[in-house]
Amino acid sequence: MDIIVLGSGTGTPSVRRSPSSLTVKAGGLRVLIDSGSGTLRRLAEANIPVQSIHHIFYTHFHPDHTADLGPILFALKYTVIPERTDPMGLWGPAGFNAFFDFLHKAWGHWIIPSTFDLALEDLPLNGPQQVKLGDVLIESHPVQHKDPSLGYRIEHGGKVLAVSGDSEYCKGLVEAAQGADLFVCECSRPDDMKTPGHMGPTEAGRTAREAGAKRLLLTHFYPECDAADVLTPCRKEFPGEVILAEDLMHLKI
Ligand SMILES: [Zn+2]
Ligand SMILES: [Zn+2]
Repeated sequence: MDIIVLGSGTGTPSVRRSPSSLTVKAGGLRVLIDSGSGTLRRLAEANIPVQSIHHIFYTHFHPDHTADLGPILFALKYTVIPERTDPMGLWGPAGFNAFFDFLHKAWGHWIIPSTFDLALEDLPLNGPQQVKLGDVLIESHPVQHKDPSLGYRIEHGGKVLAVSGDSEYCKGLVEAAQGADLFVCECSRPDDMKTPGHMGPTEAGRTAREAGAKRLLLTHFYPECDAADVLTPCRKEFPGEVILAEDLMHLKI
């Protein structure tokens, strides 16, 4: 699996860190996990054509995770040559169809594809659900954030990638990351500045250790994290490799 971090930041405006987005290529399939603002630009910087995105999975509806959905659909409808015909699926936590209805009301036909099918799927908040896309298995796991949120576990060719989305330390996240070759975990602020619904480096490390993850990629950094040492407290909890995400970072598992 090929993983490229498109946004390692949050809602805080930053040249260095765009809001959340990650792209994963597994076999012939390319998916996006979240599309905060700036995702289209980071895709261009990574030389990934927007039409090469097959499907998008959303962890939750906060603007720092969803803002580029409309612009992505607009780009796919009006800027892609030849026209896209591959169907596209969008998944998100329960309420996703209602969320999309609001976008549709605001932006009208400009974001509704005319040359390919768009499927919108709500994923449950009361337990995991599996989505099989060819030989790639994607499993959603409810996690604990301020609003309904999901983490994702992606399996392909015997490898496992887990992505936390925004979350507190919780059992659902430990399950999602069980034995993951790479666990992409949010680390919003240093431990002494922790806010509800998010984790600091100690909790991220604890989650990775309890899950038995092999490598841990910390992301979703508010600027406070860049001014602090988040590696040391995380390494006290997690014995494996800890990596600090940067936009356009490329990892393979
Ligand atoms: Zn966020
Ligand atoms: Zn959030």
